[in-house]
Amino acid sequence: IQRTFSIIKPDATKRNLTGAINAKIEAAGLRIIAQKRIHMTQKQAETFYGVHKDRPFFGELVEFMISEPVVVQVLEGENAIKAYRDVMGATNPADADEGTIRKEFAQSVGENSVHGSDAPETAAEEIAYFFSGLELV
Ligand code: ATP
Ligand code: MG
Repeated sequence: IQRTFSIIKPDATKRNLTGAINAKIEAAGLRIIAQKRIHMTQKQAETFYGVHKDRPFFGELVEFMISEPVVVQVLEGENAIKAYRDVMGATNPADADEGTIRKEFAQSVGENSVHGSDAPETAAEEIAYFFSGLELV
């Protein structure tokens, strides 16, 4: 059993799609074991996406992520990291497979509705960045 970290991004929360996205997460066999709505500060978003700080879209990405509240989540299941990335679909919704969250809901490569951790180390870091151990049962 594995845990991964998820964000329902501003384009999706703004369109009231949290429940629809959660339904896809649960249909993929993942359990939402923690969830809260937060409004990220600029500093939090810059730290969270620090790995992308030299990419040309970094400024735009941070502005987007702080434009509205987001829903941060911890998901649990067998191979949760890969299972979630599979149901998220490709970063660019134009390349995403049928039935994925991004195919169905994402608006562009930037406003792509969800984030999911990409490896066990980043999952652990990202979970600890937004949740305390007491919130995870
Ligand atoms: P995430 O990390 O959010 O789960 P990902 O792993 O599929 O998505 P990354 O390459 O890590 O994609 O990029 C992080 C985020 O940066 C993307 O989800 C998207 O919101 C944004 N992004 C990536 N590429 C571009 C781009 N070319 N133009 C604008 N925004 C982009
Ligand atoms: Mg990524």
